[in-house]
Amino acid sequence: MSKVRHLLGISGGKDSAALAIYLFNKYPKLDIEYYTCDTGEELDETYQLIQNLENYFGKKILNLRAAENSSISPFDHFLTMYGGFLPSSNSRWCTKKLKLEPFENFVSSDQVISYVGIRGDEDRDGYISRKTNIQSIFPFRRNIWSEDVVRKFLNNSIIDQSISCCELVDLSNKRNRFVELLSKPLSPSFTMQNKLNLLFDLGIKETNRLIFEFLKSTEYPLAKETDFPLLDNEEILVRDDIFRILEESGVGVPEYYKKIEFEVNGKKGDYSRSRSGCYFCFFQQKIEWVWLYEQHPDRFSQAQEYEKDGYTWNQEESLAQLIQPERIIKIKEDYLKRTLRKAKQKSPYLLDILGEAEGEGCAACFI
Ligand code: SF4
Repeated sequence: MSKVRHLLGISGGKDSAALAIYLFNKYPKLDIEYYTCDTGEELDETYQLIQNLENYFGKKILNLRAAENSSISPFDHFLTMYGGFLPSSNSRWCTKKLKLEPFENFVSSDQVISYVGIRGDEDRDGYISRKTNIQSIFPFRRNIWSEDVVRKFLNNSIIDQSISCCELVDLSNKRNRFVELLSKPLSPSFTMQNKLNLLFDLGIKETNRLIFEFLKSTEYPLAKETDFPLLDNEEILVRDDIFRILEESGVGVPEYYKKIEFEVNGKKGDYSRSRSGCYFCFFQQKIEWVWLYEQHPDRFSQAQEYEKDGYTWNQEESLAQLIQPERIIKIKEDYLKRTLRKAKQKSPYLLDILGEAEGEGCAACFI
């Protein structure tokens, strides 16, 4: 029996849902435990997505609910403890209390591989646990390893060790080139990223196997495994693939991603919500608050009720100010201008302009 647990957190966002489906189908022998950390304040579409995934897997997704014995929602429970102090990007007690702590309690001291749905077209690393018994793996990227693993493997002080890994891996006629590359020390003109890219260009599977050999000399959870099927995975999945996986599986794309048309001063545009997470999340853009007000007025009112004793979700204006008619017009106009500017720049991410802020915020809530 494996000594390592395999965990995958479903945030309610499209990427983690697609990753769960992808691994479920491609690696059925990996005994993955799917979990979600419910804040009690998610959008209905998120709960629907979890339900759809449960139907697809034919099993329950574990709900790691913080303060589970409380009679109020986990978010409200901790808000009361914090004296009504609303979380913000500078003070994110919500992520810590509602997402990270329940996850780390669930893991305890077990050796864990945590699968993270950051895509091949994104440039970020997501949640990296500081606990040494939790190792993050990124199956959608060419580089499935977390930055700390790569940093250790390519550290100049262990060049001899990394070269010796070449003796343990089948590199066939690429051996000399791998040895040559691994021998070259990092420097300001030859960065870790340069070296890593060259290694992957030479061979993804081979580089993965070299890193896997190196890990055997460390305390990382994968050191306890005799093999790991993702070492041979050369697929790189990007935004379109995510939508395809969700559609083709029948699980579906959460409704809040679907664009809704609006008109302002004779000009047409469309909006949607770009991410999962609590309906009142302070990371959302102004246009998303307007979307919430117009498309989910009940949820907007609930968000508004939290604004008291001088606390507001946005630093510079209250929700009551944000929904003044002239303010809504201004937000929509600014948003249209921004999308137009982006269109002119021919951004590769144009498929979904709202996705512009996707990289910000909390990986535990939005992936
Ligand atoms: S979605 Fe936003 S408000 Fe909710 S826990 Fe995550 S960061 Fe906090």
